[in-house]
Amino acid sequence: MLISDKNIRYWLFLKKTYDIRSYKGTNEYDYILGKKYTYDSYVQNSNNVQIGDFVIFREDDYILGYATIDRIDKFKGKKEMRRCPRCKSSSLMQRKIKKPEWRCNNPRNKECKFEFDNPFLTKDEVIISDSYFKNYIEFDKVITVGEVKSCSATKFSKRVQNAIMELDFIKLKKLINN
Ligand SMILES: [Zn+2]
Repeated sequence: MLISDKNIRYWLFLKKTYDIRSYKGTNEYDYILGKKYTYDSYVQNSNNVQIGDFVIFREDDYILGYATIDRIDKFKGKKEMRRCPRCKSSSLMQRKIKKPEWRCNNPRNKECKFEFDNPFLTKDEVIISDSYFKNYIEFDKVITVGEVKSCSATKFSKRVQNAIMELDFIKLKKLINN
């Protein structure tokens, strides 16, 4: 049951399995469904998430359940990034068979498409947030990724795949309480 609360915001947190995600520029963080989710300051909205907020969990193509944020621990950390040696983008495709193993897929510089064996490595300073949850509840009906995305609070985020997406309470309420 979803209850209106003007002091909180509503989010979709995405956990993508490394093997099936498109871009391989970074490693995975700790994750426990309904208990712990780690993100960093490179993630859009990372600064807007607060204790008490409502979170829906998505793993790859599945919407699983929801919980309330109980605690957020923020600390300075280093994020290892794999980048294109030519344009320094971290939007890299890792190829299973074709050589060289890596190909640049920089969305802002579509001409790059550089292919290489060894990515250029950087260690970037970021703020890492470990968020912890309480009251995790699994959905008792099937809800699709498309349905949750259609509750997006911003206009154009249906197509993009952000790890953290803000949801609109009114739309979400219709979806969940039905
Ligand atoms: Zn490149």
